Amino acid sequence: MSEQNNKVAIVTGASRGIGAAIAERLGKDGFTVIVNYAGSAAAAEEVVRKIEQAGGKAVTAQADVADADAVRRMFDSAETAFGGIDVLVNNAGIMMMSALASADDVNFDRQVNVNLKGTFNTLREAAKRLRNGGRVINFSTTVVGLKLETYGVYAATKAAVETLTAIMAKEMRGRSITVNAVAPGPTGTDLFLDGKSDELVERMAKMNPLERLGTPADIAAVVAFLAGPDGAWINGQTLRANGGVI
Ligand code: NDP
Repeated sequence: MSEQNNKVAIVTGASRGIGAAIAERLGKDGFTVIVNYAGSAAAAEEVVRKIEQAGGKAVTAQADVADADAVRRMFDSAETAFGGIDVLVNNAGIMMMSALASADDVNFDRQVNVNLKGTFNTLREAAKRLRNGGRVINFSTTVVGLKLETYGVYAATKAAVETLTAIMAKEMRGRSITVNAVAPGPTGTDLFLDGKSDELVERMAKMNPLERLGTPADIAAVVAFLAGPDGAWINGQTLRANGGVI
């Protein structure tokens, strides 16, 4: 492990997929990691165990990001336990594909609640409470650029996250806090793979000129760059990490 850097990072949705890889990577980079999850307690504990085994420091924190009070409590306990928060990674997200004609209210409300309201809930706390010099890394998606059919509501929530990113970056003036978003392309996690045939996965993997799916570790490396010293001059940007598909 690299030296403890005394910085504290909250990673939302860190029990599985990209978030788990981010938590492990930031743990290796010396951050104390708060491994947030909604329902997968055992998986989140396992992520903490892996970070500790690699010599890092981490705790789990259950909070549905769509619940403003739960998010506030998560920030409260992180501050009480570790004295402050330096990095927020807004990775928690859900995807429900549907053509607009058949998208019901539940589909719309759930995606807006988790992806947009959830990001807003944590950004509001971070805007008030992040220590100077901090970093915020939000999660968009490359489909905001690709504009594929059936991704309408999902992509719209993420386009809103890109807008919040650019505006919050300006609102942090004077505090040396950067705010950026990462927009992955197809990445091998439950969110992408569930409900897709092997054929479709293969076809989507070949869309980019590197001809493979992204891995959670590919995306975690981008987040680690933005959270670490080398990313200091990137601010207010959405960084597409997708092998060059767009
Ligand atoms: P997964 O479905 O694999 O994992 C989602 C994670 O988010 C889980 O840890 C889950 O926790 C957590 N989560 C879901 N809802 C909530 C909630 N309400 N509150 C707190 N945590 C929650 O997704 P990915 O790892 O693939 O996606 C991570 C991010 O990357 C998302 O924002 C997604 O939109 C984005 N993305 C992913 C792409 C891909 O191809 N995979 C492409 C582009 C963007 P629990 O286990 O407890 O349910």
